[in-house]
Amino acid sequence: MILIIVGGIILILLLLIIIKAVTSKEDVQLEEPQEKIIHMSGIYSIVRKSPRADLVKLRPSEEKIRQYLAGQNEDIYNIALCDSERSALLKHWKEQMDVNLREVEIGDKTGVAFYYYDFPQACAACAPFLSKGHFVSREEIYNFPQLVPPFHLGCTCILAAYSGKVDQNPNDTVISGMRPFFTNVNVPALPEWTSTVTLPKAAEVSR
Ligand SMILES: [Zn+2]
Repeated sequence: MILIIVGGIILILLLLIIIKAVTSKEDVQLEEPQEKIIHMSGIYSIVRKSPRADLVKLRPSEEKIRQYLAGQNEDIYNIALCDSERSALLKHWKEQMDVNLREVEIGDKTGVAFYYYDFPQACAACAPFLSKGHFVSREEIYNFPQLVPPFHLGCTCILAAYSGKVDQNPNDTVISGMRPFFTNVNVPALPEWTSTVTLPKAAEVSR
């Protein structure tokens, strides 16, 4: 008799464990499509995900940059680098990253679909790769956060929001020579982050 009762309890316990396992599996299955919806909305501009976290993963850490600069005695123009310039380059890199990410984050709130590259100061290291007026869509930034400047140490390139509809009316441009940065599905080549341009030199080039 006792054996039957004990056996019964074990059976009930087993059943409860199986039910629990099946239920939690269903929970997991329910969560997946929700994640995908958030992901898709990022692409379709309903609720956009900031590229900040993804970009930080792609870019060198502050420590890595510091170490790199410590080993560099001159920039790409063979201009000697001193400690204050190294510090200024790191500070500029972090500030520009934040400025450009904020431009995208603010644009997400107002529904900006396109951004174009601008150069308040000419950037010789960027010149072979991209120029003022090259534009990228928010979806392209979403897919490839590395499109957010700065691209290298001392980079003066900025991302500017464009309120017109580039794809629908190519003549509606704020600047002449506005054209898509992507010519195919691959991300166009970008400067190496190590292409160091000292900040006074970056200012000088624009004159
Ligand atoms: Zn640059």
